[in-house]
Amino acid sequence: MSIMQGGARSAQSEISTRWQERGSCVDVDNHLFFPWYTHRVGRMPNQEVSPDDIAEETKKICWSCPVRETCLEYALENDLKYGVWGGLTPKERVREKRNRRTRKRRETFGRYSYE
Ligand code: SF4
Repeated sequence: MSIMQGGARSAQSEISTRWQERGSCVDVDNHLFFPWYTHRVGRMPNQEVSPDDIAEETKKICWSCPVRETCLEYALENDLKYGVWGGLTPKERVREKRNRRTRKRRETFGRYSYE
């Protein structure tokens, strides 16, 4: 199953997600991109491996993906809460959003502005 067949992805409009057709994950098993869910429901091929370790391996697929930046922006803009997108886990995307807000605030108000 392709990652594009995953719930959140298939719910998006075809036009806004055409870039997914060029993603390195197009023919990769979906469970690699949603390891926490797959592990929780007991469907991981190897339940001994932690979801975090699987996510780390999955991120390597993303880092060489030709549409990684678009994928990451899509995940951030749509506030996607699950899965690896654009080479980042959900926690890393939350951190990325926070860092961007901080950078933007500093650009606007100067380096020593407080949150
Ligand atoms: S960055 Fe990762 S999740 Fe996004 S399209 Fe590429 S391989 Fe798939």
